[in-house]
Amino acid sequence: MADQTLGAILRQVRAAFAQAGIDGADLDARLIVEHCSGTTRTDSITDPGRELAPQIIDAIEMAVARRLSGEPVHRILGFREFYGLKLHLSPETLEPRPDTETLVDAVLPFAEQVIETKGTCRILDLGTGTGAIALALLHEAPKAEAVGVDISDDALETANENARRLGLGNRFSTVKSSWFEKIEGRFDVIVSNPPYIRSQVIPTLQREVRDFDPIRALDGGADGLDTYRVIATEADRHLVADGIVAVEIGFDQAAEVEKIFAKEGHFLAQKHLDLEKYDRILVFLRSKNQVLRP
Ligand code: GLN
Repeated sequence: MADQTLGAILRQVRAAFAQAGIDGADLDARLIVEHCSGTTRTDSITDPGRELAPQIIDAIEMAVARRLSGEPVHRILGFREFYGLKLHLSPETLEPRPDTETLVDAVLPFAEQVIETKGTCRILDLGTGTGAIALALLHEAPKAEAVGVDISDDALETANENARRLGLGNRFSTVKSSWFEKIEGRFDVIVSNPPYIRSQVIPTLQREVRDFDPIRALDGGADGLDTYRVIATEADRHLVADGIVAVEIGFDQAAEVEKIFAKEGHFLAQKHLDLEKYDRILVFLRSKNQVLRP
């Protein structure tokens, strides 16, 4: 790279990404250059002539090569923001998506309602990954407590580390378990963004997802619904009488997932749309008479 000023480097990275057909080339260029150089958006506007040191240029070149080979920008940075929280990622954690913030929105009013009556709210997050859902809920509801469950040691370590960094470690604990297998006790809320992609579809996913998100966090079995069957069947043993189950689902799975839960005696109480207006979150109750605050 000949001209090594902040403005010139930004332009070159942006052009390289655009030429490679990368979605969001501008944003990715900015995130990488700002991260590697420790600069801000304001710096690139007010001080584009700033010279970048050779080791910064090297770091940018390395990050650009990784992005060009398909690695998602947040994996390169090592973190992603979710519900306003900075969450560190690791190889066995799914990158938290904005759609999943809808799951947090869906659960929060109920968690607050439980806290009003009981003083606390016990949350079980199945397949916690980075801890995103549980930690966002704990951050918003300072009297709640959460248990994050995962089968991956790497994920549990990352979730605990995220909890510690965010100052939420005293209300968050983890259990290594395949879904409910090692779980004891009952919870007010069971929440999950389980793997829900049909096995056959995995090879057709964008390379950013297929090659970099952990397959275990994506693959929901032949019809994508395996984990919903497990949750629907076993939730009752781990839920208080007036508790809820809230799950994220694939864009076309609402009717089937509703049927799976109905068969096990759960009533669909709420459906929430994602940012593209697909049914993305379903909330289930044990009793038809229970009233859920919207
Ligand atoms: N939303 C993710 C995707 O489509 C899938 C996450 C999941 O299976 N829970 O890439």
